[in-house]
Amino acid sequence: MEIQEDVSLKKCNTFGIDVSAKYFVEVESENELIELCKSDFLTDKRHLILGSGSNILFTKNFDGLVIKNSIKGIKFKKSGKLIRVIVGGGTDWHDLVIQSLENGANGLENLSLIPGTVGAAPVQNIGAYGLELKSVFEQLRAVEITTGNVKVFTKAQCSFKYRSSVFKEELKGRYIITEVTLDLHNTDKVNTAYAPIRIALEKKGIDNPTSKDISEVVMEIRNSKLPDPSKIGNAGSFFKNPVIPKVDYKNLQVKFNGMPAFPQAANNKVKVPAAWLIESAGWKGKTVGGVGVHTDQALVLVNHGEGTGRELKDLSKEIQDSVFKKFKIKLEVEVNIL
Ligand SMILES: Cc1cc2nc3c(=O)[nH]c(=O)nc-3n(C[C@H](O)[C@H](O)[C@H](O)COP(=O)(O)OP(=O)(O)OC[C@H]3O[C@@H](n4cnc5c(N)ncnc54)[C@H](O)[C@@H]3O)c2cc1C
Repeated sequence: MEIQEDVSLKKCNTFGIDVSAKYFVEVESENELIELCKSDFLTDKRHLILGSGSNILFTKNFDGLVIKNSIKGIKFKKSGKLIRVIVGGGTDWHDLVIQSLENGANGLENLSLIPGTVGAAPVQNIGAYGLELKSVFEQLRAVEITTGNVKVFTKAQCSFKYRSSVFKEELKGRYIITEVTLDLHNTDKVNTAYAPIRIALEKKGIDNPTSKDISEVVMEIRNSKLPDPSKIGNAGSFFKNPVIPKVDYKNLQVKFNGMPAFPQAANNKVKVPAAWLIESAGWKGKTVGGVGVHTDQALVLVNHGEGTGRELKDLSKEIQDSVFKKFKIKLEVEVNIL
């Protein structure tokens, strides 16, 4: 474990923002991490735990220690239909999805191709195409940064919500997730609740899809919809989809005919697609300085190359203000701004 000084973070964040870290260390085991947390080095320094940097916007140099999580490894434990998977927090999420499918462990296919590490997945309870991490989550291990003590968190203790958890709220920045345990299965039960998945399967003439079929279809849909960060800097959805009272939605519908919404479990609420609001406020495809709103996907802010984090933050604020002015709906940022 080597602590380096003045390290560029340009390749460590998918926006490709050119900032640096005063100190940078990569940890490859939980013991190394405990040793680091128990040492004096961290006492007087700020710290940031970094996975693949696919949900972070740097607006300035980081003047403390960046701890890159490279604790890898996947273990499968089979017991009847249940397959318990124990995964190192620095493992690549999509590698986990693919290796699970290859080992007959189903249940993650709808979350194929989400960038990032397994340790970051519980932080915002990653979700896509009708599935959230919480539905397959069993428990996680995490190291408390100030003490180096290890704590196991159950599902209830994680307080998972839509794109959030205790690690993005009350315990933000206090624990480093080193291991995640998921409960998968070896049955053919698949989740086709999301309409575009059903349409894509129909087009392919697949009546009884396997988990691998779902994974392939999800990858195709994602590749056709979302910009590739290796080609244009972005962090996926910049904002969360707002959840508003049904009664407010009904009033808005009178004024904005065709405004889409999806019913929520709490039946007096609906979720409105943020992309629709941003597009309707005239932002889709707009460029401001070195940054902008993607031409095909209004929910994705992009760095055209030499853009700065400050420009992206300012643009996000302008979008929030104009959406609020037009619809009286507050857009909440999904990306972690530093
Ligand atoms: C093209 C694209 C598409 C995306 N699509 C989706 C999607 O469909 N659904 C979705 O939910 N997200 C999506 N995202 C967002 C992103 O992939 C997820 O949030 C992912 O889990 C972030 O992982 P990461 O390792 O890159 O985390 P980072 O960006 O490195 O970190 C994110 C936050 O988690 C904290 N953190 C990271 N690792 C740990 C750890 N081990 N312990 C404690 N805290 C930690 C960081 O400090 C930071 O606050 C997308 C991003 C991109 C670029």
